[in-house]
Amino acid sequence: MNRELSRRTLLHKAGLGLIAVGATSISTIIKPASTFAQAKEPPMPPTKRLGWAIVGLGKFATEQIIPSFAECKSSKLVAFVSGDKAKAEKYALSYGVNPKNIYNYQNYDSIRNNPEIDVIYIILPNGLHAEYTIRGLQAGKHLMCEKPMANTVQECQAMIDAAKKATRKLMIAYRAQYEPFNLAAIKYARSGQLGKLKLVTSDHGRNLDPKDPADRWRMNKKLAGGGSLYDIGIYSLQAARYITGEEPIEINAMIYSTPGDARFREVEENVNFGLRFPGGTLANCSCSYGHSDVKRFQVFGSDATLELDPATDYYRHRLIIKRKSGMEEPQIQEQNQFALEIDHFSQSIMENKQPKTPGEEGLQDVRLMNLIYEAARTGSTIKV
Ligand code: NAD
Repeated sequence: MNRELSRRTLLHKAGLGLIAVGATSISTIIKPASTFAQAKEPPMPPTKRLGWAIVGLGKFATEQIIPSFAECKSSKLVAFVSGDKAKAEKYALSYGVNPKNIYNYQNYDSIRNNPEIDVIYIILPNGLHAEYTIRGLQAGKHLMCEKPMANTVQECQAMIDAAKKATRKLMIAYRAQYEPFNLAAIKYARSGQLGKLKLVTSDHGRNLDPKDPADRWRMNKKLAGGGSLYDIGIYSLQAARYITGEEPIEINAMIYSTPGDARFREVEENVNFGLRFPGGTLANCSCSYGHSDVKRFQVFGSDATLELDPATDYYRHRLIIKRKSGMEEPQIQEQNQFALEIDHFSQSIMENKQPKTPGEEGLQDVRLMNLIYEAARTGSTIKV
């Protein structure tokens, strides 16, 4: 075929939503953005939005969550809880939080007397999640808690029980389950568009940096709960679960930490784990604190393969479908997943509905991660 003609034909098709990218032999079909676009609703007036308090002004809170409130439609930032008063005042000034709504870890419980606060969001080291979640629920507020939910199954259950007792809602901040590329991947996988699902692979890795204050507590078992599995392997586990929409029935695993590496005195470096799902899909997952960044998954179906790489980054995701006939890249609109997640919880509260990722979802991951550790320790395949 005439190359120039072929190029022009494809460029003409671009107007119809089809364009060629890269090599001339494989055309990348870009589907119209509307394929996965979400319903657009106007933002609520500030008086109707729910008021949120952020507990812990660390890296993730200050760099991702706090700025994302600007894109929320039914949630507003109204309070901070921090051990560092000057830092809290600085962020209060930047983000229009009333300085009277700054709390510390000692007077945290007095939040109960502040009607401006509807929801508390815990963004502390993992080992503190249970205590601050339970105290927040006992103060009569709805509660969102970062992943992993807590260090142990018992703590997770105590958090769920505290929410029930207080008749408040509890949600775990699994942002990927609100992110449009991941939602599209779920739709492809579960609708049969890839054929029968055979295998999910998912890898999450990064190099733990002892010089970064946000990584220091991650080397401490009491504060982190575990190593790479608890921190980022949880994304690989989540991907396998939400892509299949099933719960694993068998688990095997292997753990390896570089001998003598001071970062891994208390927590593990590398974990490989395998899952078998009741519908016949297998998953091969990995996580590491010792190699360069990776945040991806692949879904192998009998008819097509889906790749999402990066899959669980904050922005700039890329989804590709590979078929015998060629490659497709559905055009999906990037959206602020944090704002979507935060608004989901506000909406769940306003409509008195169970959030999509409640405490039970967090408990299930902690339960499964502990079985992954057990499978590695015993060298046996564990029936769940
Ligand atoms: P960070 O160290 O930057 O923030 C933790 C904050 O807790 C700091 O402000 C620190 O001062 C405060 N803190 C209070 N008591 C502390 C204590 N005893 N020891 C240490 N710090 C204490 O860490 P981070 O990366 O922001 O992680 C915080 C939480 O957010 C973790 O649960 C982590 O898993 C989660 N997180 C989630 C995502 C995501 O994408 N969902 C990304 C990063 C972190």
